Parts: sequence; C-alpha cells; structure tokens
Amino acid sequence: MVDGHGGTLLPGLIDSHTHLTGAEDLESAVHWGVTTMLDMASRVPELVDSLRNRPGLPDILSCYYPASAPGSTQARMGFPASSIVNGPQDAERFVAQQLGFGADYIKLIIEDPAVRGSAALSSETVAALVEAAHRYNKKVFAHVTTPDAFSIGIDAGIDVLTHAPLGKPLPQDLVTTMVNKGVISVPTMVMMKQIAKKFGKINPVLLSLVMSKGIFRKLINMFKSESLNYHNVEETVRAFIQSGIPVIAGTDANTDPKSPLMLNQGESLHEELELMVKAGMSPVQALQSATSLPAKLFGLQDRGSIQTGTRADLILVDGNPTIDISATRAIKRVWAGGVQVRG
Ligand SMILES: [Zn+2]
Repeated sequence: MVDGHGGTLLPGLIDSHTHLTGAEDLESAVHWGVTTMLDMASRVPELVDSLRNRPGLPDILSCYYPASAPGSTQARMGFPASSIVNGPQDAERFVAQQLGFGADYIKLIIEDPAVRGSAALSSETVAALVEAAHRYNKKVFAHVTTPDAFSIGIDAGIDVLTHAPLGKPLPQDLVTTMVNKGVISVPTMVMMKQIAKKFGKINPVLLSLVMSKGIFRKLINMFKSESLNYHNVEETVRAFIQSGIPVIAGTDANTDPKSPLMLNQGESLHEELELMVKAGMSPVQALQSATSLPAKLFGLQDRGSIQTGTRADLILVDGNPTIDISATRAIKRVWAGGVQVRG
C-alpha cells in the first residue's frame, strides 16, 4: 500500500513516438513517468537491444530500421543500405529483416512525391510493405506530413499515421476515410509545434524534408513562400477527436545531435497531453491516449491500467490530472516494472 497523501495514482505513461540515442534517454523519460517507449527508427539494432529489459527503466518497443526509398533523405542520414526498399518485390525482404532483429511493428517513411529533392516510396511499394507486415500480424506505422502522403498511407492500409500537416489542415474527406478504415493517429503535436516555431515560413511541400532531417538552411530560405502553421495541426487533431479517430500521445522526442530538432525525453509527453486538451480532448481522454488506449490498440495488455496482474508501472502525482491535465507534471513517485525510480 502506498499512502498517496491526497495525490493521484496513474498508470505509467506510454510515449508512442520516440527515438533512442542512449540510456540517458530512458533515464530522462522514466524520471518524467514514461514507463513504455515506442522507438520509431534506429540506425543501430544493437543499441535498441542494449536498452531493452533494464530494471527501473522504461520498457522499449522498436521498429528497428524504417523503410525508405532509394535516394531518400533517410538513405543519406546514416541508415544502412538494407533499410532502403527498392520496389514492391523488395518488401518481403525488408519486413523479414526487421522481424529478424525483433521488431514489434514496421515503420515506413511516406514522402510526398511532390517534394522536390526527396525520393518517395511508390504507392505500390507502400502497399506491398503493408501486405507483408500484416501477413506477420505486425502493425504498420508511417511518417506522413502532407495531405498527399496521408492519402497514400490511407489507401495502402497503414494502421497508424504519425505527425500531422503544418501547411494546411487535413481535408475532411481524408479524415472521413480514416474513420471508415479505422486508422489511428499519433500526431506528435509537441514536435510539430516546435518545427513551426523553428522553421517558421517555408513551403509546406518541404516539410517532410525538414522532418527527415535532410534539410539545409539554404534550401529553407529558397522556399519561404507559404507558412508552416501549428494552427493547422491543431485543427486536424480537433477534427480527428470530433470524428472519433483514436489519437495517441507521442512526442518524437530525441536527443540526436544530427536531428534538426531535439526534444526532451519525458517532459515533452506532458506538453503533448496539454496540447491534446487544448485541441479538444477532455483531460481523461488525454490521459487515456498515453495509457489505456495505446495499450489496447498496440496489443500491450499487460499495462496501461492499474489492476492486479499488470506491470507495476505507476506514477503518483500531486493534484488531480483528470480535472487539470498539467497535474501530471507534479510527479512525487515513479515505479517502472515494480522498481521505484523516483520519490
Ligand atoms: Zn520520429
């Protein structure tokens, strides 16, 4: 028994979009009550493996390599040649490689074919990757940052679309198709907000380049015609919430010096929850988006709620976050897998 002294006991938080650079990422995350991290692309499988199953640190799930096209920015970013998918006939090999590493799900980078200088996976290749992953009962996550990229992903049967367009809100017909197909969103509002702040006015077709970490300052300046506005992300997420699309908390937190935007592990998830409430969720819905909802949708039945038989991933906070979401920041104690790590 734990005497909460008037605080609130919550299940440990799940961040459904992070990137891992080292053990410090896990230490920072767990300090802020994050007890499960979904890694959304790593260059080094051995690094992911070395971070799994560490007592008192978050539980790690990973896609290992993300699939991208020949000549893509990822290909130039230090991801190995075997992470490049050379067409539909290469999909099975790629999926088998990730499963061989121990992947929990498959991740694709869906670029907008209209983006200049960025090679994109064809619709046929995306569909073949989804088909192969589903044959192995693995969910498919895809990076999408423009309406055209969303459209390709939705048509191909992607399960989880991550990020949201900054250039314009997602058109209502695509939102409706997402509802009909049961597509899940991990909008990473906190990252999109930081991108809008940092890159200000640039042509939205360049967004996926920015997000793919391959952009150069010079290039940004060339395209300062239209603005990337966080308001568009908020509007899209509001439409998702109103339409009943499952919206899951994820941050895109990373401490990679090669990334165009680093974001604190752990603390950023609390900001994500606040942004979700601003976009129209109730505080309870926001809490569910980082606990019971990803647990249910991503097959993590052993966590996401407080009951006998689940992992002892718990946080004790001051105040009542079901009324004021910012109370999740007032952490008094954290337990990860039964190990008390804070308090
Ligand atoms: Zn990411």
